[in-house]
Formats: sequence, C-alpha cells, structure tokens
Amino acid sequence: MTKKRILTGDNPTGKLHLGHYVGSLKNRIRLQDEYETFIIIADSHAFAYPKYVASPEIVADGVLQVTMDNLAIGLDPTKVTFFAESGIPEIYELGFLLSMLVSHNRALRNPTLKEEIKDKNMGDNYSLGFVNFPIMQAADILCVNAHLVPVGEDQLPHVELTREVARKFNSTYGEVFVEPEGLVGEVKRLVGTDGNAKMTKSLGNTIFLSETEAELKRKISSMYTDPSRIHPTDPGRVEGNPVFIYHDAFNSNREEVEDLKGRYKTGKVGDVEVKDKLFKVLNELIAPIREKRAYYEAHQDEVKEIIAHGTAKTRAETQKTLNSVLEKIQLR
Ligand code: ATP
Ligand code: MG
Repeated sequence: MTKKRILTGDNPTGKLHLGHYVGSLKNRIRLQDEYETFIIIADSHAFAYPKYVASPEIVADGVLQVTMDNLAIGLDPTKVTFFAESGIPEIYELGFLLSMLVSHNRALRNPTLKEEIKDKNMGDNYSLGFVNFPIMQAADILCVNAHLVPVGEDQLPHVELTREVARKFNSTYGEVFVEPEGLVGEVKRLVGTDGNAKMTKSLGNTIFLSETEAELKRKISSMYTDPSRIHPTDPGRVEGNPVFIYHDAFNSNREEVEDLKGRYKTGKVGDVEVKDKLFKVLNELIAPIREKRAYYEAHQDEVKEIIAHGTAKTRAETQKTLNSVLEKIQLR
C-alpha cells in the first residue's frame, strides 16, 4: 500500500528555533515513518519579504542552515525527501495557473498576511509577490499532492486557501488534487522570550535549536517573567508568564512544574530557581541536536547532496502533477 504524503517546510531565512520545533518539527519527526514526507526549503518564497530581497546571501546560507537543523533534530534523510523550491520550476508554473482561480480580494483577506505586515514593519510597501505567496504555497503543497501539512497555527489560513483552490480546480476541470489537512502541534504558537505572542526572528525573541550552552543560559536568565514581581517573596503570576509557558511546553516532569507554580504563586521561589530548572530542561533537549548538527556542519557536502537528490526526486513527482493539470485545462 502506498503511504499518504506530508508536505511541510521552512523559510531559509536563518536558523530554526523552539517555535518551529513545537509548531511543526515535532510532528515531522513523529510522522516520518507513517507518511512519505517532503520537506520544502522555500528559498524563492523568502523573497516575499523585503528584508531578503536585497540580501540573497542570507537565503543562500539559510538553505543549508535549515536543512542542517531538520537533520539535527532527527529527520532521517533516507526516509524524508528534502527539496529546494527554486529547483522545481513546475511550482512556478502551477502557482501562476492557480493564481487565476483566486480573487484579488480573497488573497488580501488573510489574517496571517496582515499580522506579518505589522510584525515585520512592512507598512504599505509589501510586494505583489508577498500577497501572492500563500497561492505559491498552495502550489508547493499541491504539486506533490500532500494529504497532511504539519504547521504552526499562523500557517492555517494558507492551508485553508490551498483547500479552496484545490476544490475550485477539481470542480471546474476534474479531479487532480487532494484537499490537504493542516496539522498543528500541541503548542500551536509559542510565545517569545520577551512575552510577545509569537517567537519569531523578526522580533529577536528566539531560542535557536543550535544555541550554545552559554547563550542558552544567557537568553533564559534575561527572559521576561512577571513584571509586577520585585522580590522572590512577592506572590507571582503564572498565567501568561513565558517562563512557565516554556515549562509547560518542554518540562516532562509535571510534579516539578506544579511545585514551582505553587511556590511562585505564594512567593516561595525566586525567578532564578525557576529559570535554572528551565535551562536544564532545554539544554537536555538541545544538547543532542547540537551534537548532531556539528556533524553536518563538518560535512556540508553531504547536506548539499541530500538537497540535490531530494530536489530531483520531487521534480519527477511535480512533473506528473503539472502534466495532469495542463491536460485538464487543455493546454496539452
Ligand atoms: P520567523 O518568524 O522566526 O522568521 P517563520 O514564521 O518565518 O519564522 P517559517 O519558515 O514561516 O518561519 O515557519 C516554519 C514553520 O514553523 C511554520 O509551520 C510555522 O507555522 C512554524 N512556526 C514558526 N514560528 C512559530 C511559533 N512561534 N510557534 C509555533 N509555530 C511556529
Ligand atoms: Mg512564517
């Protein structure tokens, strides 16, 4: 029996962080045996953001960085297919054709685009490509006919658009596309170390999966907690406190977490102890990732080969999909 497919991936705009991990990477690892998995390194997509238009070298380096992160967390390159978006011109062709099926108003009616315009200070200078990028993302997903798309909550509007486009195409021209489902992680959206609603590179509130021990310690010790608490003997607030949100997300010792929360609320524990315990938990998560990443950093040709091989394999699949599309719309 053939396996169902997963399509998921990352913008190669820097190293991956804990937000990526809880939102999408954890599900990738869990499902890599059950599904045939394609991981897109969305390099052409990155140019949707003004910041990267003038800095192609960041994206070029990012391709290696995010692939190394994905390998370091335990995705097995003999099972999972990694590919570079720019290596698949069929995605551009498909994206162009799909854009004809989406009204301009519908493209603009997207809460995540609106949020990114704000978070990334784009004002009204965002490009036509930025507005179009969820449609290009639909092309990424549909070109391999994925069934499941593991993503953080912010990506769900794009998956919804993908489903609409697939439905519209199928009902207009005949069945070609699977209508994919989004799958969010247990933590749908991880807060930043500064307490902002989203951990994101653009706000500089991240903890990277490749963090050194010293840097991890520094970032945790300067984390935002309860601003109204001055002394360790003051009763503190646990709800919405990023340090406790991280304990809930990463500390599997529930007893310890409940004990810390109880003492925090009654002013019987200082930030230092709560943060020290968080450091131990996160360092345990990151240490093996760090070690595995060091191997790939020393063997970057191997990483490039994994991408080249995966891109060729994916391209053969997308060519089949595109041929079916062109036949249906009588362009072949
Ligand atoms: P950054 O904002 O830090 O540049 P990004 O959002 O651009 O990151 P993407 O490549 O767009 O990163 O995201 C890759 C995956 O990680 C997506 O599925 C996205 O939803 C998820 N993700 C990113 N940040 C978070 C977060 N803070 N919490 C949960 N999921 C997240
Ligand atoms: Mg994003």
